[in-house]
Amino acid sequence: DTSTDVDADETLKSRPPVVTIMGHVDHGKTSLLDAIRGAAVQTGEAGGITQHIGAYQVAMKDKSKITFLDTPGHEAFTEMRARGANVTDIVVLVVAADDGLKPQTIEAINHTKAAGVPMIVAINKIDKPEAKPQKVREELLQHEIIVEDMGGDVQDVEVSALKKTNLDGLLDAINIQAEILELKANPDRAAEATVVEAKLDKGRGPVATVLVQRGTLKVGDVIVVGAASGKVRAMLDDHGKQVKEAGPSVPVEVLGLGAVPSAGDQLTVVENEARAREVATYRQGVLDKKRTTTAPMSLETMFASKASTTIEFPMVVKADVQGSVEAIVNALNKISTDEIRVRVLHSGVGAITESDVTLAASTGAPIIGFNVRPNANARTAAERNKVEFRYYDVIYHLTDWVKGAMAGELGPEIIENVVGRAKVQEVFPAGKKDKAAGLLVLEGLIKKGLHARLTRDDVIVSKTTISSLRRFKDDVAQVVAGMECGVLLAETNDIKAGDMLEVFEVEERARTL
Ligand code: GDP
Repeated sequence: DTSTDVDADETLKSRPPVVTIMGHVDHGKTSLLDAIRGAAVQTGEAGGITQHIGAYQVAMKDKSKITFLDTPGHEAFTEMRARGANVTDIVVLVVAADDGLKPQTIEAINHTKAAGVPMIVAINKIDKPEAKPQKVREELLQHEIIVEDMGGDVQDVEVSALKKTNLDGLLDAINIQAEILELKANPDRAAEATVVEAKLDKGRGPVATVLVQRGTLKVGDVIVVGAASGKVRAMLDDHGKQVKEAGPSVPVEVLGLGAVPSAGDQLTVVENEARAREVATYRQGVLDKKRTTTAPMSLETMFASKASTTIEFPMVVKADVQGSVEAIVNALNKISTDEIRVRVLHSGVGAITESDVTLAASTGAPIIGFNVRPNANARTAAERNKVEFRYYDVIYHLTDWVKGAMAGELGPEIIENVVGRAKVQEVFPAGKKDKAAGLLVLEGLIKKGLHARLTRDDVIVSKTTISSLRRFKDDVAQVVAGMECGVLLAETNDIKAGDMLEVFEVEERARTL
């Protein structure tokens, strides 16, 4: 893995910001996107848009660019984020000036905060006589969104998507925010990208709109996208024009995949097609596992525990001929994952010797004999040192065993399924020393006995369990979104109004590789 080298500071060049527009239904997300896009068309930049792809770039007067993700709604945003795709740099929250903050506006605010993505508020429909932009600002204040005029640092811009008023003001605000973020990526490396949308096109086969995040994607690159693989046959930019390359923050349609990937899937460039198929097959397996255990709602599992270091599975390999040695070492390398990999300490042709045993003994490695056996010295040394010999004459029998052993080595997979999220509205004493919290359930549900994380300003303050759950004076088993309830949290008294509670189920699953 060379990711540290390929993204070294000195290789980074500034890249356009990637913007997602969110807000309540009918507040004008689509109109605003269309208006911005239309403005770009008028400047001649986007001559001849023949199709609609899920992301596009708009050029500014100074030739700088902004990439808009046209996937309105926070579901898409959160769904992508749940899959590890943090593609959005800036969220534009659209609020209709005549309607104010609505449930989906508040959800969008919460999702944006949870993602730690900066926000710009577009107060839309300013052309309407009943527009009350100041009221919108005051309502935002109740959700801790403080606009600049009120002493905060959130930019707000009054616009009319309908009359195309002050679109420049919005684009300027985005540019200012982008400058603050100092967005950079190395364009001169193998591309990494995220699928924004994908479909099966009758004439062209699987088509994926991807957003390049790092590096430059090129025609001819061998790619793995989610569980699909292929070779980039052609790329089309957001104007439907064929391009040979796409750098950071550039959205392109990619042709040449063997299957249709899903939004949020990661695109990786690999060295050859055999490797691509292999990675794709592995990912398909992971995907199948995930599908069977997906929580009822697709909330992000941003705090889900991830193995930070790779477990190594050491091995010594001896075989009858050099060709077998190479084939075995290759096969073993292939079944390695980010979490666990086979480390061949030594490989060679000929009988298993005492020196092989000494090496294996020092690391607990088994010794693989492929059409070879240990000599007498090796045999006695192995007995003394409790080194295991394993004999094979078919490579996949060996790899099957290794896969099983590695899965066992990893132990069961601990999976956290977030089932609900609530906000602490008030805290009051319970008994002599405990505190109870009054909650508003924002998403999903809360159940007695479940695990929970208490976060304050997106920082985890404690891990706890719901030890008591009440509505009014009654004990209840669960409380769903939109309802208020009271809880006692085990082993913590550090609770404050405004804290967020994330409730999750924990599942242990046996691994397979
Ligand atoms: P979305 O559901 O957030 O994508 O909202 P739309 O873009 O579909 O807009 C909903 C309705 O509001 C449509 O009838 C639009 O024509 C109207 N609309 C959007 N922007 C404006 C605006 O700036 N002023 C006025 N008066 N109407 C608008």
